[in-house]
Amino acid sequence: MLDPLDIESRKDTLIWAARRCFDLRLQTNAGGNLSLRLGGGSAILIKPSGIGFNECSRDNLQVVHLDGRLEPSPFKPSKDLDFHLDLYRIRPDIHAIVHCHSPWATGYASAGLEIPCLTVQTIEKIGRMPLIPLSSNGGPQTEVEISPVFRDPAIRAAVLANHGTIGVGKTMMEAQYLAEIIEETAQIAFIRDALSFVHAGGRPDLPQFGTARDARAALDSAGAATRAG
Ligand SMILES: [Zn+2]
Repeated sequence: MLDPLDIESRKDTLIWAARRCFDLRLQTNAGGNLSLRLGGGSAILIKPSGIGFNECSRDNLQVVHLDGRLEPSPFKPSKDLDFHLDLYRIRPDIHAIVHCHSPWATGYASAGLEIPCLTVQTIEKIGRMPLIPLSSNGGPQTEVEISPVFRDPAIRAAVLANHGTIGVGKTMMEAQYLAEIIEETAQIAFIRDALSFVHAGGRPDLPQFGTARDARAALDSAGAATRAG
């Protein structure tokens, strides 16, 4: 059962994230897409095709059931709709998806490079952002390429070759923050790569440190070894 009050309040949440993406220049024009699971869990709210992130409003967002049935709408559904629906079907923990064509991250993806998790924050919060290649016929990625990567419940972010980024979360804010962290990480990686080539003549190895939990475990085992010795 769709709850009209739930739909209206979630529309405002989606509009908040869309404006934030636009203001941060993560998505200009009408590309990219974002969606949010509705209260009952069996339907979503999504930006239609041809509407910019900055033009999202209560009047143009679409409601779509997880089986693909579209509630009446004068707008055309996005071509990204199928991969959004499939991610909600395979991952009950996903309640929001932000997909945008942010330039630094898409630059890395277009060079065929996985964006490395270099900073303490990305190692803690993301772990890895797999690079998903174009479809086998050379077209944009669909659920055929995207869903297998997200079947791993640890994956929260991915980058699409020659296309853009995907961040997923338990809330819209979580997914939005991931869209921002992916782009920020790509900028950091670019600066690191450029400076490393200029000053050290090559790309340094990836950092070997782990999460704070890993560090505590290493300290604990070192302490235990010292006590045993
Ligand atoms: Zn796209």
